[in-house]
Amino acid sequence: MATLADAGLTFTSLPHPAPTGADQRAAILANPGFGTNFSDHMVVIEWTDGQGWHDAVIGPRQPIALDPAASVLHYAQEIFEGLKAYKQADGSIALFRPEANAARFNRSAERLAMPELPEALFVESIERLVQADRDWIPEAEGASLYLRPFMIATEAFLGVRPAKQYKFIVIASPAGNYFKSGAPAVSIWVSDYTRAAPGGTGAAKCGGNYAASLVPQGEAIARGHDQVVFLDAAEHKWIEELGGMNLYFVFDDGTLLTPELTGTILPGITRDSLLTLAREEGLTVTEGRYSIDQWREDAQSGRLVETFACGTAAVVTPVGKVSGRDGEFNIGSGGPGQLTQKLKSRLVAIQRGQEADTHGWIRKIG
Ligand SMILES: *Cc1c(COP(=O)(O)O)cnc(C)c1O
Repeated sequence: MATLADAGLTFTSLPHPAPTGADQRAAILANPGFGTNFSDHMVVIEWTDGQGWHDAVIGPRQPIALDPAASVLHYAQEIFEGLKAYKQADGSIALFRPEANAARFNRSAERLAMPELPEALFVESIERLVQADRDWIPEAEGASLYLRPFMIATEAFLGVRPAKQYKFIVIASPAGNYFKSGAPAVSIWVSDYTRAAPGGTGAAKCGGNYAASLVPQGEAIARGHDQVVFLDAAEHKWIEELGGMNLYFVFDDGTLLTPELTGTILPGITRDSLLTLAREEGLTVTEGRYSIDQWREDAQSGRLVETFACGTAAVVTPVGKVSGRDGEFNIGSGGPGQLTQKLKSRLVAIQRGQEADTHGWIRKIG
């Protein structure tokens, strides 16, 4: 990894004039919800064509001024990441695989014609923010400080070309356990809409993908489901992923299958970590294609015993029921399956420092 000095950057720390009081913070941390409460600080780093990354600042979280012609507002040149800081069993603070987020951020940047950020700078930005807001990490089981690094095109220019000015920003939001009690199985709707087409931006973590998924997700909710599952754009046959989570299928012979990364699926870090953990357990995991018809048939015959979705926000979530234009089917008992539970507990135990980190996934924050 390039060092910060290579990028010629030092951080300026701006004092917060009026940080949140301890009582108010405690009230927020007692019931943080998801994505509605924010910590006191933020990181902002500027990029200008010819100059590169400059003016790295950690200071009070506050609104940003944008010219109304800023190209992000018109052509959606925006990418983001999502990761969590956890309180470990021994009271220390840890990030889970932030280098993987840094690398994926740069792959997204490349696809959206945005400048790459040195990985060390990405990770240092997150570490500094977590250090500044270390009192904002909720301690309840399953709770964490959710970190949202993102980059926007800020140049005031209405022509269509890559912008010549960007801002990289990191904000933090205390997050409760995604599910209040345990992990209930979710019900999902097979969408007629598609999320990503071959050659498109499906493998990039960009806001535009999410804008396009809101109507399909709304349709799923309106029909009484929790989530939407997208099929491939070309044949409308192969299972890809949910709006923001990857999928795994578990068969009665103990093997697993997850859709292969063909460029239309977001390469989840949770997906990747579970691939490693499952193989370590001696399980056979295939990355391949799986059709909606086969899924239905296997669920009905009992060959398929579990399905789960995975991602940073909810970690591992069992899928209990699937509905679409061609009817409805249940998976296994409709509740969380054995393997789903086992893989989830192992991953959570590593993230929480309750199980040895033999893969170098944990990055402690001093
Ligand atoms: C972020 C995301 C995921 C999950 O990725 P993780 O790195 O595991 O959090 C899955 N699908 C989409 C579309 C995503 O944006």
